[in-house]
Amino acid sequence: MTGRDDLRFIPSVDEAVRHLEAEGVLDGRPRSMVVRAVRAALEEERGAILGGREPRTGSEAEVRRAILELLGRAVERASMRNLVAVVNATGVVVHTNLGRAPLSGDAIEAVAAVSRAYSNLEYDLVEGRRGKRDLLVRDALCELTGAEDALVVNNNAAAVMLALNTLAVGREVVISRSELIEIGGSFRLPEVFEKSGSRMVEVGSTNRTHLADFEAAIRSSTGAIMSAHWSNYEIVGFVERVSLRELAELGARVGVPVIHDLGSGILVDTAQLGIPGEMTVAESVKAGATVSTFSGDKLLGGPQAGIAVGSVDVIARMRSNPLTRALRPGKLTLAALQATLTHYLDGTALEKVPVLAAITTPVDELAARAEAMVGSLAAGLGDRADVTVTEITSRVGGGAAPEREIPSRGVDIAPKGVSAATIVANLLEVSPPVIVRTREDRIILDLRTVSPSDDDFLGKAILEAFGGS
Ligand SMILES: *Cc1c(COP(=O)(O)O)cnc(C)c1O
Repeated sequence: MTGRDDLRFIPSVDEAVRHLEAEGVLDGRPRSMVVRAVRAALEEERGAILGGREPRTGSEAEVRRAILELLGRAVERASMRNLVAVVNATGVVVHTNLGRAPLSGDAIEAVAAVSRAYSNLEYDLVEGRRGKRDLLVRDALCELTGAEDALVVNNNAAAVMLALNTLAVGREVVISRSELIEIGGSFRLPEVFEKSGSRMVEVGSTNRTHLADFEAAIRSSTGAIMSAHWSNYEIVGFVERVSLRELAELGARVGVPVIHDLGSGILVDTAQLGIPGEMTVAESVKAGATVSTFSGDKLLGGPQAGIAVGSVDVIARMRSNPLTRALRPGKLTLAALQATLTHYLDGTALEKVPVLAAITTPVDELAARAEAMVGSLAAGLGDRADVTVTEITSRVGGGAAPEREIPSRGVDIAPKGVSAATIVANLLEVSPPVIVRTREDRIILDLRTVSPSDDDFLGKAILEAFGGS
């Protein structure tokens, strides 16, 4: 039989979909999506046959079954492109690829409440007339940061862009060569300057910048001085940096505003988080930044948002910039942000904000959970793997304390007779999918980023990835 004969076994799209429906593959999936996935997979199969692929072996019934199984997998894979919750066992607390901060229970409820019904998004209940959405969380942000005024936009990239455009369109912005940062996902400061309509003036060198360098660069055409956080790198050795306070004093002296891009917005004492040396938003404001910008979904632990806090004058100018309308947050964001900020106002942030709770979970607690998981996995996996508790380090991630490692405990799984890569791939097909890290040919589960209520599920997922118990 030549490969071409295999064409006889290819079902029609209709036939295939009817079969998958009978097998329950359509459950909860839109039919059009299934049809699209089936059609693409059948075309691929036909192309392979016409391209001269070796014929499938086995009886006619077996070949037909193999093709239907292939179609079932194609539908599963197409569903894997949907946005779903995953279990993060990587130990990277603010993981940009995994959606950054999970929300607190209160924040989730707040989102649900304002999405189920109408809300006072732009209606002032005190005055009984039209109100402004950006006043909703302003007081909380001012109280928590010590700033005079605050504005919320879609993300921190937007906040930086808006600050630059408002203060320095057609003008120059002075920045140290050591701070021309690139954050993943195509945020590169030199390009942001260009798009904002401002001109970047670099001063100093990669490792050393002095106050005199800034002083020499200030001219009548200077719109702002900028400082950006080294979110994902460090410069060590023969280094000199101008402090934010010095920049602020210079700015005040020459009448030029200072923009401080903090990256991760920290609202609690960093010593409590074990990351001393990172600057909080309040410290940025106190040091004299005219406007400080930060993300809502990094160490603040709320929804994706960009927050700018600063002087009444500058925030008012940003608010009236037409760009602000294009960058404004939705009600779901504001509801989640408001609820998250309430945890800080209440003094309960370390327990209730999930990223802070994860960072501050004591190692002993993680060790006890790891012990328990090793016990059940060792029993379930038998001689399919060696399972042990391992000392590891978690990372804060998301552009805060880039090199800082937090001691943690995890589960080390060394598979036998199957590669770690196969298990890792199988874990992506579990529902919800599980994301892990690997070390040599072993799987490492860092429990710091796993909610204790997910421990049982995680254990079952591992057994499933090994092919069941
Ligand atoms: C993360 C980060 C940004 C981008 O923030 P988004 O909220 O992702 O838009 C900008 N600047 C710095 C310093 C950052 O760390």
